[in-house]
Formats: sequence, C-alpha cells, structure tokens
Amino acid sequence: MRKKIVAGNWKMNLDYMEGLSLFSEIVNMIGDEKKGDQTAVICAPFVHLYSIGKLAGGKVGVGAQNIHQNDSGAFTGEISAKMVKSAGADYVIIGHSERRQYFAETDELLLEKTKSALKNDLTPIFCVGETLDERNNGSYFEVLKKQLQNGLFSLNATDFDRIVIAYEPVWAIGTGLTASPEQAQEIHAFIRAEIAAAYGAGTAEETSILYGGSCNAGNAPQLFVQPDIDGGLIGGASLKSRDFTDIVKVFN
Ligand code: PEP
Repeated sequence: MRKKIVAGNWKMNLDYMEGLSLFSEIVNMIGDEKKGDQTAVICAPFVHLYSIGKLAGGKVGVGAQNIHQNDSGAFTGEISAKMVKSAGADYVIIGHSERRQYFAETDELLLEKTKSALKNDLTPIFCVGETLDERNNGSYFEVLKKQLQNGLFSLNATDFDRIVIAYEPVWAIGTGLTASPEQAQEIHAFIRAEIAAAYGAGTAEETSILYGGSCNAGNAPQLFVQPDIDGGLIGGASLKSRDFTDIVKVFN
C-alpha cells in the first residue's frame, strides 16, 4: 500500500512567530481530526525548522524546501542536508519549479541534492512539471521523462525506494489553474510507467506521487481519488490551518 502524503510548502512566507503559531494550529487540528493513515508534512523556511519540530509531537512531519548538495564548506549563505537533519527535519523538497526557474537549478544539480538528502536520511520530495509552453506545444511527456531520467533514474534501486515524487505543472502553481483530475491522472500514470520501466513494476507500485498546483479543499477530493494520485504538495492553501487540514482530511 503506497503512503498517502499531504505536504505543505510555505515558501518564503511567515516570520518566525507567525510560523510557530500556524504550525501549532495545524498540529492541534490534525490531532483532533485526522482519522486515516495519511501523513501530513509542513515544509517550512529553515529558520522555523528546529522550533516547529519541537511542536510536532509526531503528528506532523517537518521538511525543508531546499538544501545545498554538500554537507559543509565555503558556501556562504547555504544550508546543507546534514544541518537540516540535525535541526529535526525528515523531508526536503528538491527541484521545485521556483528553484529551477529563479535559481537555475538543473536536473544534474538536483540529482546531487537528492543524493545528499538520502545520505543524510531526509526523504526527498522531488518535483517535476512542465511549463505552459511545453504543455501547449505537446512536448510535456518528453520534458517530464528527461526530468525523471536526469534527476532521479541514475539512483540505485534501494535509494530510489525512498523518493517521493511531486508532479507540479508550472502553469498551475500559484495561478488558481488546476490540472483537471483527468490531466493529472494521465501524467501520474505516465510517471509511474516510467518508474516501472526504470526500476520494475513493484517499485512503481510503491512510489508515492503527489499532485501540486492550486490544490485546495474544493478540488482535492476529485484529484486524490484518482488511482495514481497519492496526495498533494500544497502551496497557498498550506498557509491557512483550516484549508490545509481540510485537504489532509480528504483521506479520512
Ligand atoms: C507549490 O508551491 O508547490 C504549490 C503547489 O503552490 P500552490 O498550491 O499555491 O499552487
């Protein structure tokens, strides 16, 4: 049985006290309301990680949104997977489209980051997704295939087993445009088939693939009921405790 995961991505939002307050609310609401075996995770700015980890009480997983690929060194301003792990986090988003777009992160660099996350016992939530142009010109299957092959598929099978994938069409992130359940299911099935070709059907069956892109409590039920959608990566709606926990509850 694949793990169902709803992960929030707070991006560069919420000052320290705001983050602690929202996280406490989420923990309390999940504690009262979660009935299924889904996992809720919040991927917060680095400065929040240690403190929210102390508030999590095992009810909500804690993740970062990025890491440097090296454990330490002369990389002023950067933060490593080793540091993130030591602050109490267990997850990290790798290859979010905003990192690819604004920080020029390539598939090759993302592979290095993924290896560093795994080495330091963090679960990577590895993002793939096509732009609007790529969707419109019909090249999106090729684009996704390349992101998977270059970013992930040189991992050995044991390492790959620890990866969570998030399909996030760039045109749906923060735009209010959501992929239809059919569009999302088509891509999730494609990703699963690519995993099967690379690692075998058993691994493909066990890999959690999340949908991200303007997902909210209104559209999550139709998305999460699709056979290859195992949860969501949630941006805007993770900044309100009720909105986020309502999405988590879709799996109750
Ligand atoms: C995201 O940033 O990963 C995301 C899915 O954002 P939003 O839900 O706001 O579209």
